Amino acid sequence: MERLDGTVALVTGASSGIGEAVARALAGQGASVALVARRKDRLDELASDLERDGRNALAIQADITQRSEAVAAVREAIGRFARMDTLVNNAGVMFVDPVERALPEEWDRMVALNVNGLLNMARAALPHLLETAETGHRRVADMVNISSVAGIKTGAGVSVYSLTKYGVGAFTESMRQEVAARHVRVSVIEPGSANTELRNSLRVEVQTRDRARAGIERLEPADVADAVQYIVTRPRRVAVNEIVVRPTEQVE
Ligand code: NDP
Repeated sequence: MERLDGTVALVTGASSGIGEAVARALAGQGASVALVARRKDRLDELASDLERDGRNALAIQADITQRSEAVAAVREAIGRFARMDTLVNNAGVMFVDPVERALPEEWDRMVALNVNGLLNMARAALPHLLETAETGHRRVADMVNISSVAGIKTGAGVSVYSLTKYGVGAFTESMRQEVAARHVRVSVIEPGSANTELRNSLRVEVQTRDRARAGIERLEPADVADAVQYIVTRPRRVAVNEIVVRPTEQVE
């Protein structure tokens, strides 16, 4: 394992759940972290917490579904830290419902964030990742995209969430092939059910169905952050392209 001292990571959706855990894990390995989300108070709290531990952290408020805000977030991170070694595309939203009952506005929100938000960040950050891979001390850079088990396996009720996450997988593989020779590693993680605020946005009746199905010990955010940390701390010659991480009891 290589520590991340002197490197810079930008994490989207760092105000809660998996993104917050990823930011803590990468900072723990020595990375400076740019924290991106809409809830600035939560980001400020996390940044102060990390700085109390002697880390460098910058809270950046942005709605990454807006291309201009995604571009500005990357610019702000580069303005402060002057480089980017790692982009973790984690921000995402989930709504589940059969197509005939689903609210199209919820589909729009999933496509806007899980697809367009991720594309906005990937495009804005890529030149900086390529530059770090060429000139940085590790001569390698990483983009880690957070998909879902719903991005490799689908079922009734998750059609549009799955659509967005299958898209993340396809985009990751295509981009991986484009930049692999230039030492930017593009990876995807497909987590199973994790204990975060993700389900809070489900409508009450959907939450009730979701809980009835659950009944298992879910992953903690840190369990997913572990997978991110594993990917980005490999030596330059090693690219871990994909990790599926499920709660032990999750069958599908
Ligand atoms: P959370 O709801 O805890 O986190 C989602 C994050 O996305 C928040 O920090 C939120 O911050 C941010 N976000 C939402 N909208 C925007 C926006 N427009 N611009 C910028 N940031 C935004 O859920 P998780 O931690 O669980 O989700 C993280 C990722 O993991 C998602 O991609 C999700 O699909 C994936 N995942 C989660 C699983 C689970 O069971 N929890 C399982 C498999 C995958 P804010 O509201 O402050 O903007």
